[in-house]
Amino acid sequence: MTRRLKGIAAAPGIAIAPVVHFHTTLDQIPMWKVEDDRVEAEKARLLGAVTSVTENLSSIQQELAGAIGKQDVRIYDAQMAILHDETFLKEIEGEIEQHKCNLEVALQRVVARYESVFEQMENAAMRERAADLRDIGRQLVGALVTTGRQIYTANGADYLFAADEFLPSDAGILDREHIRGIVTAHGGKYSHGAILARSLGIPAIVGIDKVMQETSNGALAILDGDAGVVLLDPKPEELADYERRLQEQRSVESRIAELRFQPSVTPDGTKVRLMANAESVQDVARLELGTMAGIGLFRTEFAFMERRQFPTEEEQVSMYRRAVEIADGKPVTFRALDVGGDKPLGYFKMPDERNPVLGWRGIRLCLDWPDILYTQLRAILQASAEGHVRIMLPMVTTRSEVVRCREVLDQLTADLRANNVPFDPRIEFGVMVEVPVMVSVLPEILPVVDFVSVGTNDLVQYLLAVDRDNQRVAKMYDPFHPGVLRVLAQIAEMASEAGKSASICGEIAGDHWFTPVLLGLGYRELSMAPVFLPRVKLMLRSFSLEECRVIARRALSLHSTSAVRKMIHSEVLPRWSEQLRGSDGSPAEEGAPS
Ligand code: PEP
Ligand code: MG
Repeated sequence: MTRRLKGIAAAPGIAIAPVVHFHTTLDQIPMWKVEDDRVEAEKARLLGAVTSVTENLSSIQQELAGAIGKQDVRIYDAQMAILHDETFLKEIEGEIEQHKCNLEVALQRVVARYESVFEQMENAAMRERAADLRDIGRQLVGALVTTGRQIYTANGADYLFAADEFLPSDAGILDREHIRGIVTAHGGKYSHGAILARSLGIPAIVGIDKVMQETSNGALAILDGDAGVVLLDPKPEELADYERRLQEQRSVESRIAELRFQPSVTPDGTKVRLMANAESVQDVARLELGTMAGIGLFRTEFAFMERRQFPTEEEQVSMYRRAVEIADGKPVTFRALDVGGDKPLGYFKMPDERNPVLGWRGIRLCLDWPDILYTQLRAILQASAEGHVRIMLPMVTTRSEVVRCREVLDQLTADLRANNVPFDPRIEFGVMVEVPVMVSVLPEILPVVDFVSVGTNDLVQYLLAVDRDNQRVAKMYDPFHPGVLRVLAQIAEMASEAGKSASICGEIAGDHWFTPVLLGLGYRELSMAPVFLPRVKLMLRSFSLEECRVIARRALSLHSTSAVRKMIHSEVLPRWSEQLRGSDGSPAEEGAPS
């Protein structure tokens, strides 16, 4: 009889292959007493291990750079920072000196101490540090006790990777040609391992406590990454059903990818501007610009976060200029530095805040530190001479913040002009709508901006009072909440009355199930992670504007998220499946919004 193990659906997709057990934790380490005259020599071993892990992490980063998003590659920067943290290294040395233990033991103890501190932290991002730390400890021990780089392989056969945990360094040593899925005992949907699995397109389920005990090494299993279930000893008819679904999944992916160069218009000819979100110049360089209208959100803070100090004005000019040159006349929307909240800057002392998400972040911080703002805006202005540039302010809550920034911009342009420094005088200036109060102050803000862009990631968290990074309330974070949809409708309407463009750059812009609703509400510009663009394009090419309006009106009249989902299921899914129908006429099913 089929046995089902339920876990957390961490990365979508279906996989069928034998489960192969891997041991990703190093509990068994050698242990010996270090004599007084050997203490220094023992401490010196640490340096060699740090060098070797540094090299290993850099090569993983390079290897994965082409396969995963820049933001995800940065997970390894966080690990690198731990690896070179002086306090961490000194504590390990201190442990050797004090207890005369070997380096492996010292490492294990220090890692365990730090780990328990991180694990007790409120902030989910900080808790995630515990896994990074464990990973660093494990890699250091690995560098000491093994020679050469181990690879998780099943001797060249396809496999489902099963382990206690999937850590960032594991992503670098998978047999990527043959790994079909990942299943682990620990981890959450937003743990770094899960993020990397999604980025690599590997179906994954995490949080199945007893996965190592309940599965047999080498036994065939089905991993359903959409439902978060592993099926063991599947019945022949179940296996046949999943095999059919797997085939469909493959043909759907290739069909969607083929359509991405088609025009971004609804069947009745309404043009929709699909744009990309980017976090770095390398992200921009990787875009297939022919499939999109430009860059709707360039999160500039990531270039600040990966450094050890503020980038200089020259460094910023060269970075922004390069992005604009690559975009080749298509707009690049630079968002002013949006640090604070869950995005700390290591080298800039931030206060300890009880509610950082409601604290000193985004434009508030920029206005309190005019140096940061002036330097960045001046750099963006200089880059504007090379193409089409837009500037966007994050976390705005009042008209006065916008007016102050506009004055800064005017002053900077006057200075540049006086000094004969080229810039584009038609540079567009806009704000993000991320805080609910914006809905009531938009009428006074719209006249002083050229465009608005709705940051639904934050807007939803503030509207519903649900922390976007808190797993415990993750189920309540639902952009299909009719109240959220009504707010989105109001924003689109106000922008349209004022004759200003309104776009969406939060995650829902890339969720194709939302596309007809967003078009129906009046949005004509959607900016998203580029990987989602082909699906969104196919969806908008499937519904006329009038149909979108009818769907949006219906969504607005409903009273619960489940009712909205049900309606989308009945109105959108049949057409979507029809679009995905294979050339042989076989139906291609795909799950509805879950
Ligand atoms: C948003 O809040 O929707 C947004 C796009 O900004 P970020 O995700 O960077 O906070
Ligand atoms: Mg935001």
